[in-house]
Amino acid sequence: MIIGLEVHIQSKTKSKMFCACDANYFGDEPNTHVCPVCLGLPGALPVPNKKAIDLCIKLALALNCRINRQTKFDRKNYFYPDLPKGYQISQYDQPIGENGFIEIDIKGDARRIRVKRVHQEEDTGKSIHKGDSTFLDFNKSGVPLIEVVSEPDMTTKEEVIKYAKRLRQIVRYLDISNADMQKGQMRFELNMSLREVGDNNLPKYKVEVKNIGSISVLEKVIDVEFTRQSKILDEGNVPDQETRGLKDMSGVTLSQRKKEGEADYRYFPEPDIPLIEFSTKYIENIKKQIVELPQEKKYRYVQKLGLEPDTAEVIISDVQRYKFFEKLIDGIDDKKFIKELAKWYIGDYAGIIKQGKYDKDNVSIENFKKLIKLLLDKKITGRATKDVLLEMFKTGNDPETIVKEKGLEVVQDDSLIERTVKEVIDENQKVVEDLKKNPNAIGFLIGQVMKKMQGKADAEKVREKLAFALNLED
Ligand code: ZN
Ligand code: MN
Repeated sequence: MIIGLEVHIQSKTKSKMFCACDANYFGDEPNTHVCPVCLGLPGALPVPNKKAIDLCIKLALALNCRINRQTKFDRKNYFYPDLPKGYQISQYDQPIGENGFIEIDIKGDARRIRVKRVHQEEDTGKSIHKGDSTFLDFNKSGVPLIEVVSEPDMTTKEEVIKYAKRLRQIVRYLDISNADMQKGQMRFELNMSLREVGDNNLPKYKVEVKNIGSISVLEKVIDVEFTRQSKILDEGNVPDQETRGLKDMSGVTLSQRKKEGEADYRYFPEPDIPLIEFSTKYIENIKKQIVELPQEKKYRYVQKLGLEPDTAEVIISDVQRYKFFEKLIDGIDDKKFIKELAKWYIGDYAGIIKQGKYDKDNVSIENFKKLIKLLLDKKITGRATKDVLLEMFKTGNDPETIVKEKGLEVVQDDSLIERTVKEVIDENQKVVEDLKKNPNAIGFLIGQVMKKMQGKADAEKVREKLAFALNLED
């Protein structure tokens, strides 16, 4: 597979790209966020939104692009009922950013997917088809869109999905957009073709699939197109160079039109907006606002904090999640403690939150840390830690109180453990016999001791005592 992705991202601004209309239109009555500019009325003049351009520069910088010091807007001419002025204001030969990349991890290796360009444009209106009629809503018309175009560097579905997710994370980290797919704030266009294994030339054709509104649909489209294009190629034909649309959410695509070339858009400079120049200082100021990005954060978590890459990936994948985690480990130097906190945070803690039954404010950061400290100090067992955490969510109590109330402290009394071990050995002579053939049977005996002690013994210690009593080597 040869895959390139074009991603449209609605940036988070108060007003639209070229007029003062409120850009926050979602769910409002149709045609209530409109003016002569975004309705495309003759004579109306566009004025670029500075905030939108700043956000576009910010994203281009975050994607390692070179910023064009001089940028301009161009008209991309085509007619569609939801684009009444007959052109979209976009950028052609001097986009804001060019030649960047996004780094993704594939099976433990970092891979760079090149970003060809990052440019600023405006959204169109929305056509609503009902029965024989089409209705038009211009609330979305003129909302700022950033378009990120990759090079055709991806060859597997996994790469495409990781690229899309990493881009979405970056956009959210920088607060450029909520990238809420349900609200259409991030949309994909897939460019895909196939070639024989071992062939290094770009295929002679390219199929574009427009308006993919979610990552799960994107995955399905790749599968469906792979099968469709393979079949045509296997029959000795070349798939048409065309634009396809989604039939439904199953990923099946339908031909919409044979693909236009760039010439069909008759790009030319937008005469109503002058050239825009950025000073070095201006760009430097935007650069300073860029926070630590997901990939760097992941490296830091792995290299400096000692987390497993998979654990780090889970934590960095969400802004709220990494922010909470960083508060959790604030001021802690002990790597073992940090690792254990990370494990319980993305494990049991996240699991209980996911159930949605308890108020997450019931477990303060301090109490959560205290709980994990009790475990590390072997005051409670892993089993008890789970129970105490759940109880903390239910009651909001601190872990020491719960441990005391429920009597969950690990038994430190060695003679009690030894007595219990002896009881279990006496009661399970058959299993003890069996141990010679099946050394794993010791697990059963440990379990029996733990059961008798209501899970309050340190399992390692029980194992030692059992091994000693039974004269076993390790
Ligand atoms: Zn307007
Ligand atoms: Mn576009």
